Amino acid sequence: ADSPEPAKPGLIGRLLGRKEPSEPRRVLDDDMLEQLEELLIASDMGVDTALRVSANLAEGRMGKKVSTREIKDLLAAEVARIMEPVAKPLPLYPTKPQVVLVVGVNGSGKTTTIGKLASQFRAAGKKVVIAAGDTFRAAAVEQLQVWGDRAGVPVLTAPEGSDPASLAFDAMTRAQADGADLLMIDTAGRLQNRADLMEELAKIVRVIRKKDPDAPHNTLLVLDATTGQNAISQVETFQKLADVSGLVMTKLDGTAKGGVLVALADKFGLPIHAIGVGEQIDDLAPFDPQDFAAALTG
Ligand code: GDP
Repeated sequence: ADSPEPAKPGLIGRLLGRKEPSEPRRVLDDDMLEQLEELLIASDMGVDTALRVSANLAEGRMGKKVSTREIKDLLAAEVARIMEPVAKPLPLYPTKPQVVLVVGVNGSGKTTTIGKLASQFRAAGKKVVIAAGDTFRAAAVEQLQVWGDRAGVPVLTAPEGSDPASLAFDAMTRAQADGADLLMIDTAGRLQNRADLMEELAKIVRVIRKKDPDAPHNTLLVLDATTGQNAISQVETFQKLADVSGLVMTKLDGTAKGGVLVALADKFGLPIHAIGVGEQIDDLAPFDPQDFAAALTG
């Protein structure tokens, strides 16, 4: 795959500050290694991962001359090696409907991601239904309806403040009756009261299991890449609230360096099903470890 040149200097560009990637060669010493560690930590990779990646890179190379190109390639290879096992598209099952529960804090991009996914699945010939399960935020419901219209997918709603679990149950009934391939259920993202949210999510799961004991088949956690290291604690929190099966990382088009994805892959090993690369309906891309590593290290 041809990876486009990153718009801003990546890690190695900043480390060595050179335009010409292959020469001159420089001795890999403690000072340079320390700079590399600092850059990796600053990229949100996390201290443990940054130190280990640096150590792997330096192994057998201390005191030897290396070129910028060599360091960049080694670093990209290390990053790609960590990321490859987690790069997995959302698995599709023959079950009708496959139920995808979508969780994440408000503002992470849940609504947008559901719209983008609905559009992709529809384009792939799948019949999709969306349930606007964040019944406490009228704006969220309206926003989801806008996305449903864009994607050409029905959005089931309930009056403001009504029980998300009964909406989920009705949505299951409707999706089954319609022979839908996929039911995506949006959920609330208020972390202010975790006990409430946990109970709300548990109740949704309980009622949809009355219709299909294997549901939800996926629980997608949507994370905002611009929150950096915060994404780590969000995974930890949502793993306690729900049975998270995979991640979507949004806003990787912005200034976010995305180093936190490396930390997430290293720490949790959860599949990254897709990445958000913009605000438009087609701005959802499969996660490509090689492209990601090239862009991060560039
Ligand atoms: P929710 O509260 O989790 O449902 O978040 P929304 O889907 O409403 O998204 C919050 C904001 O982030 C909106 O302004 C979206 O347009 C924006 N957004 C979502 N995904 C992306 C992305 O991949 N890239 C960019 N640049 N913006 C995004």
